[in-house]
Order: sequence, then C-alpha cells, then structure tokens
Amino acid sequence: MKKTKIGICKICKENTELSFEHIPPRSAFNRQTKYYSLSSEDYYKNAKEYIFNGKKPKTKKEQGGHGDFCLCEKCNGFLGSKYVRDYKKFAQIAMNIMLSENKEAKAYKFDISDLNLLNLLKQITAIFICSNDISFTKSYPELLEFVKNEKMEILSKKFRFYMYLNIEGQIRNGNRHFTNYYGEICEFTFRPFGFVLNINNSVRIMEVSEITGFQFYNRMDKSKEIPIVLNKYPTWYPVPVLDFRTKEELNSSK
Ligand SMILES: [Zn+2]
Repeated sequence: MKKTKIGICKICKENTELSFEHIPPRSAFNRQTKYYSLSSEDYYKNAKEYIFNGKKPKTKKEQGGHGDFCLCEKCNGFLGSKYVRDYKKFAQIAMNIMLSENKEAKAYKFDISDLNLLNLLKQITAIFICSNDISFTKSYPELLEFVKNEKMEILSKKFRFYMYLNIEGQIRNGNRHFTNYYGEICEFTFRPFGFVLNINNSVRIMEVSEITGFQFYNRMDKSKEIPIVLNKYPTWYPVPVLDFRTKEELNSSK
C-alpha cells in the first residue's frame, strides 16, 4: 500500500495528498536504506558516541529508503519523468567506479558529456527544496521556478552549486545553515554524492567541485568530452557543513 499524508506540496504549494518522496530518487541506491532520523543537535552533542562507541539513537530505525512526504503525486511524477533519469545514470557510474577501482583514490575523473547536466542540476535543486521547509522557497522563488519550468536555464549568480563523491559516513540532510564563514549554505549527502548549495557568497569553495555551470548545458559543445574531477570525502560528522575529517582525525580531536 502506498503511504500518503495530507500536507502542502513543496513544489506546487497545494494542500493535498502527499506521497512519500524518496530523496534521492529511489532508483539511485535508495530502495533499502535503513536509517535513523535524529536532530542535528542531538547528533552534534553525541557525535563521538554515535561514531565510535556504537551508540544507538533513541529514535526508531526506519526502513524503505530515505525520504519525506514533500510532494504531491503530480509533482513527484513530473520529477520522475523529467529529471531523475540523469541523476540515476550518474549515480550508477559513480558508485561502480568507487566500488571497482582503486579504493584509496581521493578523487576520480569522469566524462559527463552523455548526461543532460541541466536536468541533473534541476534534480539536485529539487532535493534541496524537499530538504527544507516551505520558507526556503519563499526566500528563493527562483529555485522553485527553475524546477517547475523545464525550459528555464539561467539562475541568478547568487546561487552556486558544488558536488563531491561520498561512500562512507553519515547522511547530511540538506537543511540550510547560516554560517560565519560561508554565509547561507545547504549540504546534502547521500552516497555516492554530496551536494552543496551556497547562496550569496562570491567566494568559490575550493574543497568541492563547482557545478553551477551545468545550467549552460544547452550551449555546450556535446561532441567534445566534458570532464569533471570529483573529490571523495567521508562525512562522519553530519554537522557542521563541509567537515570532511576522517574517523581518525575526529578521534584525535577534542
Ligand atoms: Zn505538487
């Protein structure tokens, strides 16, 4: 039986029946995921206990994939038919490479000329919209328009997107944070990828690969290789954002 709930759809904003949306898409390694939902405050306070001492969260273990009730069936179907395919394709390539090639590698290079990068960026934007409450798209209606209108290409320069590879550590939930160093930032991690959306920060984040340019996909020369190098990072600490310390580094810090 399909799980549903009444609420406001984060894309069309209608008060209607919402279906369980898998974030990221169910087809991209998110079918059998077992996970705990717990507040970042709880995790932050007890991070070492969770990471090193096998402490079990008090919240119930959930199964059937990571996600939320955030979209109505119509919007869910729209994302599925328009944007999910390219996300899934890249996720499969990235996962295969990380599992089969040199596991010690810190970065991998991909040729992504056979992916529709605009659609991929729209799917990533939808993930950030679903990861935040309705106030997020009230602040940034342009992001909502970018997802709803498949023809829309250009976003204002205040939005910068980044990505990296991830195969070990925790899920990062994509919630927006206001930081002194980066300004407003959202980070979503679910293997094999991590995504960062940074708003109103003109300084490029160097640790991760910028993918803001994916919005220009329709103007790119598809006959040539489109290379991208992605760093691989562990995410043992779910917060604060962009903390990529290894287990060993975390254990030696106070
Ligand atoms: Zn909807």
